[in-house]
Amino acid sequence: MRSAADLVAADLRHLWHPFTQQQGWGEDEPALVIERAEGTNLYDTDGRAYIDGVSSLWCNVHGHRHPAIDGAIRAQLDQVAHSTMLGLSHRPAIELAEKLIAVAPPGLTRVFYSDSGSTAVEIALKMAYQWWAQRGEPQRTGFVCLHNAYHGDTLGAVSVGGIDLFHSLYRPLLFDTWPTPVGDDEHLDRLLQARHREVAAVIVEPLVQGAGGMLMAPPGYLRRVRELCDRHGVLLICDEVATGFGRTGRMFACEHEDVTPDLMCVGKGLTGGYLPLAATLTTERVYEGFLGNSDELRTFFHGHTFTGNPLGCAAAIATLETFERERTLEMMAPKIELLTRLLDQRIAFLPGVAEVRQRGFMVGIELVAEPAPERLGPQVMLGARRRGAVIRPLGDVIVLMPAPAMSEADLRRLVAITASSIAEATSGRLHSAAQAAASAAA
Ligand code: PMP
Repeated sequence: MRSAADLVAADLRHLWHPFTQQQGWGEDEPALVIERAEGTNLYDTDGRAYIDGVSSLWCNVHGHRHPAIDGAIRAQLDQVAHSTMLGLSHRPAIELAEKLIAVAPPGLTRVFYSDSGSTAVEIALKMAYQWWAQRGEPQRTGFVCLHNAYHGDTLGAVSVGGIDLFHSLYRPLLFDTWPTPVGDDEHLDRLLQARHREVAAVIVEPLVQGAGGMLMAPPGYLRRVRELCDRHGVLLICDEVATGFGRTGRMFACEHEDVTPDLMCVGKGLTGGYLPLAATLTTERVYEGFLGNSDELRTFFHGHTFTGNPLGCAAAIATLETFERERTLEMMAPKIELLTRLLDQRIAFLPGVAEVRQRGFMVGIELVAEPAPERLGPQVMLGARRRGAVIRPLGDVIVLMPAPAMSEADLRRLVAITASSIAEATSGRLHSAAQAAASAAA
């Protein structure tokens, strides 16, 4: 067995990590190499346990190594690991589509598979544009998106993104969009009034903008967006990649406001966070716009090699069955209340904390802007790691996104570790800022 140090050295020699400045990476603290996991704990190569505080980048749902999901993947391996969906079908894809439609907002009846959240979004954008083009409105090339939106890293998804740090560099490569501020439905109304003939769709992250910093839309806004899309005759795309599969306390965030989008993107938690599988769900109305003789070229010319991978579909079926069998959403309700209480009692009052935002199990803890040093978020992350929790901040917003299955005991521990780590990272800074202010005043 290779030693941890040897693995870390090889990582530094050969890997390029996503969203990571490689220069200096692993210098503050050696890279953490995860070897195995159990439930909502991760274990490193030395056998140390860490609570998985962000559910492996917001995707794990029922815990790691869940027997039902492990078993479903093993059983599928005995049948076939991969077979294409282009011109062929397979049992897990068919049965998963039935199950997804049964839990999705009413009116969504068609499932188009892909393999990541970004591809699910690309597909929704292309479907929306092509649908209009095939109705004789090819000038509808525009999309309305929200300020601070994040929909993935491929160029179409980046076009409808609104986080300057990630997206502005690529602007010359992107198509134009019309951004609108979250919560300002009058702005959206005016925009659609003026532009509706050029707009294919409005795209939103329903209720919570995750990568934007766990920003919460005001109550009723999503419903209002749906109404405005209907009034002005444009499609609505809801990106449930982050919010789907229980994160907000319901299966999908759209349910909180009784909204059925025209296109809905899911990924991450679809397979319980096990395998790369995503889907774009849509209505019969959109689907029928693509029907015709093959020489009419109304086909949706899109499909990835691993679209609808059978192992992923088997994991997803087991994930949805586990929601039912373990009554995951029901069990979450008291845990969401507990989390609210813990955040209130342990974190909200800390001097380094400006605001705590929470919807279900999606939490953003905004650290005070002043005197925030550049690397405050990473310091909290390293402090948490030393105390036995893995978290990943977004700038100076500390994100907690535990798996819906996390136990009360682990939620308590996660919040306690986060509180101590924030207190440690911010107290020195606040103290020195107070001293600096005092000596400036003297
Ligand atoms: N949409 C949203 C709302 C997301 O949060 C993410 C990923 N964090 C994506 C799309 C992209 O998903 P993926 O990373 O699987 O491409």
